[in-house]
Amino acid sequence: MSESEKTSNDEGFGSSDCSTDGQVEVIDQLHRFLQGEVPDGYRIGEERVPKLTADQAWTVIWYVQELHQQLSVEIERCDVCGEIYDSANSGDCLDYGESPHHFCDGCYYSEEHRAKVGQVRRTTA
Ligand SMILES: [Zn+2]
Repeated sequence: MSESEKTSNDEGFGSSDCSTDGQVEVIDQLHRFLQGEVPDGYRIGEERVPKLTADQAWTVIWYVQELHQQLSVEIERCDVCGEIYDSANSGDCLDYGESPHHFCDGCYYSEEHRAKVGQVRRTTA
């Protein structure tokens, strides 16, 4: 079975060959679910729907990623805009200083990114 011609532009769901495409979607949906967005076609009693903040929801995902390895650790959440992205193919992670800082493609070389990069230049001189 050859999959070499396969492209996954619109939907990355089916392909599982070391691709994290579908994972962004899965984690993004889970992230929204934890904030109260019930997926289409499902009904959940109002008082059972989780209503976490975006940061709390991300902490749950981080927990499953780090402690149980059930979700790809390559998927990160941008610390600037909150977008969930695949760090294997895009964005940047500057893992130093106060806390790790993740930047999606859109925020790469943003002011926040430059400030973070600038920080390390100054301190490592
Ligand atoms: Zn961003």
